[in-house]
Amino acid sequence: MSEGNATVASTTSAPATAERLRITEIFHSIQGEADAIGWRTVFVRLTGCPLRCVWCDTEYSFYGGGWRDIDDILAEVASHGARHVCVTGGEPLAQKRCLILLQRLCDAGYDVSLETSGALDVAAVDPRVRKVMDLKAPGSGESARNLWSNLQHLLPHDQVKFVLASRADYEWAREAVAGHAIDRRCMVLFSPVHGKVNPRELAEWIIEDKLPVRFQLQLHKLLWNDAPGH
Ligand code: SF4
Repeated sequence: MSEGNATVASTTSAPATAERLRITEIFHSIQGEADAIGWRTVFVRLTGCPLRCVWCDTEYSFYGGGWRDIDDILAEVASHGARHVCVTGGEPLAQKRCLILLQRLCDAGYDVSLETSGALDVAAVDPRVRKVMDLKAPGSGESARNLWSNLQHLLPHDQVKFVLASRADYEWAREAVAGHAIDRRCMVLFSPVHGKVNPRELAEWIIEDKLPVRFQLQLHKLLWNDAPGH
């Protein structure tokens, strides 16, 4: 589907019964990370997360939100006329009907990505979706939640993201990539926690160790300092 030709979303056949999801926000911005960085994107942020990463930057998505029909969500997504849609959270897979939303978005012809914590099973995610899956380093406080069996379900278009809060996190991630040959499955992203790891230092560690990973800074933090709605 070409950029600006998103009205096809509203023509997708609707399920017999209304399917609803709890939504924190739907907004139109620039993708700030991963493989689709820089693309104009509609973000659908689902409410709720069973994790509590110490450096979480979307705590406002843990509670609240409003129930929305999937048809209604698709109509709002279509109104922005973007080719890329990112389903994020919170942890979007914590709501089972997220799988239906992902499928409906793919059926409508969007380029769909899913940002997920790596703690919930991704096996049933539509294979057309690009999964951007975290693996939580110890500095997150949630590394015990990593569901390592998820690695088996990664496709070449998926991405595994490590968000690193220290040199110790970096070394842990380096060993995880090597130990599980993650770079042979899909793209691997290393990103510093804002204010915890000097980005230049992280870049230099990656160069020094000749790692098969892609360094990234979050573009939306540079552009909008992480304000909600961007
Ligand atoms: S998984 Fe994501 S949304 Fe949930 S606490 Fe961690 S960083 Fe925040």
